[in-house]
Amino acid sequence: MARDARSLIAHLLLTSSVVAAAAAIAFTHRDARGDEVDPRQVIATARRAGLRVFAGKHLVLVSDRPASPDDELEQLPAVFDAAFDVWCDHYGMAAADHADWRAVGCLVVEPERFRSCGLLPPGIPAFDNGFCAGMQFWLMEQSNPAYRRHLLLHEGVHAFTLTLRGLNAPVWYAEGIAELLATHRLVDGVFASTPIPRDADDVEQLGRIEAIRELREQRLAPSLNDVFATAGNEHGRIRDYAASWAASAFLAEHPQHRHAFAVAEAGPLDRTFTQRLQDTPGFDADLASRDFDAFTDDLDYGYDLDRMAIDWSPGAPLTEVVQMRVDPTLGWQNTGVSVKRGSTVRFQTQGRSEMGQHPEGAVDLTSEAQGITIDWYRGRPIGRLFLAQWLDEPADGGRPRFQRLAEGSHGSFVAADDGPIFARINDSPLGRRDNGQGLELLLSP
Ligand SMILES: [Zn+2]
Repeated sequence: MARDARSLIAHLLLTSSVVAAAAAIAFTHRDARGDEVDPRQVIATARRAGLRVFAGKHLVLVSDRPASPDDELEQLPAVFDAAFDVWCDHYGMAAADHADWRAVGCLVVEPERFRSCGLLPPGIPAFDNGFCAGMQFWLMEQSNPAYRRHLLLHEGVHAFTLTLRGLNAPVWYAEGIAELLATHRLVDGVFASTPIPRDADDVEQLGRIEAIRELREQRLAPSLNDVFATAGNEHGRIRDYAASWAASAFLAEHPQHRHAFAVAEAGPLDRTFTQRLQDTPGFDADLASRDFDAFTDDLDYGYDLDRMAIDWSPGAPLTEVVQMRVDPTLGWQNTGVSVKRGSTVRFQTQGRSEMGQHPEGAVDLTSEAQGITIDWYRGRPIGRLFLAQWLDEPADGGRPRFQRLAEGSHGSFVAADDGPIFARINDSPLGRRDNGQGLELLLSP
């Protein structure tokens, strides 16, 4: 069978500097059994052609990148091997059962070097960033080491899912899971999976979180169903990868939805994948849609879906003073108080919130409800109290989101909609992790 007649999975990972350059994507199924490559033969061919070869347990990496003291290529097979174990875990597979699985990756500076020795066959279509065909994949050299590693692992996930899981799923899942399982940080040089990147420095040039935030600001953020419905030939821009990653990370990590996602992933990764997910007992499509909107509304580095999960209970009318403690380790918290649009709510606070350690020293910080200006998050002092309501139809358009109605130590506000009032203490996602007890909030009519 001619190589170009084989089904292939193709995609382009655009660097954040070329956001606008939408490109046509070929995304079709390939036969996982049809494309075996012999790594030993590849190694021999590469060495004869004067290419550099880095061999690990699960990856043979070939590159025409000239050697330089800091090019970090020799560590990539070990990073890939550690990632392979995480991918096996994700799919409930024993890595030991796949000890012989070994992909061939070509890190390409000059495609002609690979074409001339047969390591880039004529049937492989032109690609800007990466391309995977079964056990073999190619990626263009990237100047940024973090982005090079990401792209290598992204293609590696394609090879893994195509060959070990026979993946032929909708594009949002195929690309989203590749993004999810590739996203990582190095801890003492060792691969550590971070489905949601912990720090921008870990994923330089990736730009997924920034893309989602920009879509939100432009009122163009997709709903979960929009992501599900993305056609293969309409998935090429940074924002498409960002949205597919966001949906996959959300479904894999959210305490209410991860079970259904895992059930769907345990079945065939085929064209019915999205439908099977939606049909999984316990999967509530409306709830998932709202939780996804809350996720994209608030996404940031270090976002923790367990901490940020929201109780959407309708609450009881506010007829007398209601007192509650606001937990600074969590995101938006339902006060249990429901109000009618246009009604006035008064609030006061008592006590302080324990805001963890000062970023530059071993000093425990506490804060009253106005916040402490020693440290800021998103333009507001940490420790500051916010009160908000969820708007299904924001007046300025875009997806549903929280609207902040009041902040600080006391005051009053007018309800923007019928429904519960939510409270939270301002802090960064990572900052929340070492917080302690929160202040008391009193709401009255
Ligand atoms: Zn891809």
